[in-house]
Amino acid sequence: MSLTEQVKRKALELGFDLVGVAPFEPVPELNFYKEWIEAGYAGKMGYLERNADKRCVPHNLEPEAKSVIVCAAVYHTRQPLSTEIREPRRGWISRYAWGDDYHDVLKARLDRLVDFLAEASAEPVRTRVYVDTGPILERVYARYAGIGWFGKNTCIINQQKGSWLFLAEVVTSLELAYDAPPPDRCGTCNRCLEACPTGAILEPYVLDARRCISYLTIELRDAIPVALRPLMGNHVFGCDICQDVCPWNRKAPTTDDPAFQPRPGLVAPDLRELAELSEETFRARFRKSPVKRSKYAGFLRNVAVALGNTRDPEVLPTLERLARHENPLVAEHAQWAVAEIQRVCDYDFSYEGEEWNSTLAE
Ligand code: SF4
Repeated sequence: MSLTEQVKRKALELGFDLVGVAPFEPVPELNFYKEWIEAGYAGKMGYLERNADKRCVPHNLEPEAKSVIVCAAVYHTRQPLSTEIREPRRGWISRYAWGDDYHDVLKARLDRLVDFLAEASAEPVRTRVYVDTGPILERVYARYAGIGWFGKNTCIINQQKGSWLFLAEVVTSLELAYDAPPPDRCGTCNRCLEACPTGAILEPYVLDARRCISYLTIELRDAIPVALRPLMGNHVFGCDICQDVCPWNRKAPTTDDPAFQPRPGLVAPDLRELAELSEETFRARFRKSPVKRSKYAGFLRNVAVALGNTRDPEVLPTLERLARHENPLVAEHAQWAVAEIQRVCDYDFSYEGEEWNSTLAE
């Protein structure tokens, strides 16, 4: 068995669901990345711009590297989709964030893969591992490693496994046998573009992160633009809509991996309960969870917006408490949410009043 085959077999043994290998060399997509940054679509994710040279010229990152082993793990579990939640006071935390922090889980598996590689190789090996952390364009290399095609929603989609995939890479000095990119199977479908509530997918394959609910709820540290708040629905951490509607996820397999099973209270959580979390309970509840990335104030900011979007006067006492929060970011978003509900209620009241008046007139 060749070294490449041995490594692939080991990756599957370690709990990955897919594995492929790509040459670690410049590819045309890397130019697109520069243009994307220059267009301002990365918003305030300054780290993407700062590392652009490393991301776009692989040998700036790892001068001796020849190959990248791309591994993927399914995180889909037997739970409803965000688009299936009908209870208005339930929030949505993105599916990928329900279990343990994938950075830790997958890094541990990659470390074991690297140990195996070092033992199995006849020549000295240099390696470096990445799990959605360092300056490497993961999805580009996932495509060249045959993991999936780059969907119009900009996710990597595998024909059998769908797009609920975590990616993790080993960059190595070894020359291995390379896979080929699969064909694009989006065809004439445009469901993700049509379903995105904020219009973040500007055109196929082009995402304006500044409008993306994932960016707004996770990466953005400041105030959420007022015009986008009403469009964000019940999302308090990330968004799954463009994957929920994708036909390639209709029959996507689920995983029994204990690391990715939902922690209690993370699938469609009660918004009012989230609004009551103290900083300590937030830290305890989201310890070793991806959700901690939003930070406490950012999370409460998101909960306030989601509560406003319920348009439900019953949540006003909760929002009024948040509107007096010591953190001005939280307080301002809660004040917006209170005003939003009052505006809708006033409108309903005057509408009913007009009807009532006209009934009397008859
Ligand atoms: Fe491609 Fe349709 Fe899936 Fe969008 S929803 S990624 S267009 S297949």
